Amino acid sequence: MFIDTATIFIKAGKGGDGAVAFHREKFVAAGGPDGGDGGKGGDVVFVADPNLSTLMDFRYKRKYAAQPGENGRGGNCSGKNAQDLVIRVPRGTVIRDADSGLVIADISGSDPVVVARGGKGGWGNKRFATPTRQIPKFAKPGLPGEELTVRLELKLIADVGLIGFPNVGKSTLISAISAAKPKIANYHFTTLSPVLGVVQVGPEATFVAADIPGLIEGAAEGVGLGHDFLRHVERCRLLLHVVDVSGCEGRDPKDDFAKINAELANFSAELAARPQIVLGNKCDIAAEEQVAAFRAFIEGQGLTFLPISAATRQGLDGLPGLVYRRLQELPPVKVYEPEYVRPDPAAKDPRAFTVRRTGEHEFTVDAPWLERILEGSDVEDYESLQYFQRQLSDAGVLARLVELGVQEDDTIHIGEFQFDYVF
Ligand code: GDP
Ligand code: MG
Repeated sequence: MFIDTATIFIKAGKGGDGAVAFHREKFVAAGGPDGGDGGKGGDVVFVADPNLSTLMDFRYKRKYAAQPGENGRGGNCSGKNAQDLVIRVPRGTVIRDADSGLVIADISGSDPVVVARGGKGGWGNKRFATPTRQIPKFAKPGLPGEELTVRLELKLIADVGLIGFPNVGKSTLISAISAAKPKIANYHFTTLSPVLGVVQVGPEATFVAADIPGLIEGAAEGVGLGHDFLRHVERCRLLLHVVDVSGCEGRDPKDDFAKINAELANFSAELAARPQIVLGNKCDIAAEEQVAAFRAFIEGQGLTFLPISAATRQGLDGLPGLVYRRLQELPPVKVYEPEYVRPDPAAKDPRAFTVRRTGEHEFTVDAPWLERILEGSDVEDYESLQYFQRQLSDAGVLARLVELGVQEDDTIHIGEFQFDYVF
């Protein structure tokens, strides 16, 4: 099955915790603090894999988490940084934030792209040793890794997209001008996945063409197969609009042409404005008057018309050169620029807090950063407590409590901890 969109959840690794440790030596009564730092959590990285052509795997596995960094240890041992989690996707996959739809990355080059960053490791207690605080009993826990839900969309990377009704001869054409070997059959929807073909124009000159499965009326509203495939022509610089000029299936080629263009416009105005070359196919079984009438209709709109027969190769000799020359005048294949701005925890006030009165003699302080310090501290330890109190005062928490009318012996809740307020 060909699958070209998927929504997955990715989570980078948490940083390892810093260690609280003291170094012990014979004949040394109390050694210095030697707790090492935690290692960095693993990033979630996306990379293009040329061997992949579908996002099918992501239908079965939807959660991806990188490893946490190793915790620090005593003896000044830092924890190891975790390995990154590398997710392989087909070349041309566009990654969007699932909530906002904004583009995070376009995996169309060969460079890996970090989409979720692992958390920094926490500091071990050796970092907290100062002349006045010789025996630090606290260390910092590692920071959490970034996590988000992303939508993957495969958009083929091709210069030229073949569009047209089913059975008009698109697959026959791409196999005639490139080495691609798509299925060709005389019934609708034979091609269920887009096929890429490299067209050789000269020794150095090539372009890539994509055979897009049949677009049908109503496709842009999700009625038919075509809808899923329209996004694959979004990058194309030029469209080859294949029309069955013989009308061998009982349709009018002018109608076909108008309907496919309406489909494109419905899907995206940008796509409808893409330059087109119109190929009148099946000329081998069309009457001359049919070809002439259709040519007049197309050229009357200022478009280039080329009568061909993909099956008999009639009229195909000049096609690669014509397309190649036209491509020279056009902008390069579209790359989706990142729009998503990742929430930056550092941009927020790192010591933000709120204080609420939660009882007659009770206050609650909401400040995750304070809780983190507390979690890493030994609250029984005088030095640690002093450090903690200085944080409370420096950040303005004490002043705010006083403002709210705190009194001696009132209870202060901070996360899972509680304290009595003493002057
Ligand atoms: P697609 O659905 O647009 O990819 O069409 P296909 O390439 O699968 O072709 C559909 C049918 O039309 C097949 O039976 C082809 O052999 C036939 N066909 C394609 N090109 C020509 C042509 O130039 N002349 C004639 N007579 N038949 C063609
Ligand atoms: Mg086909």
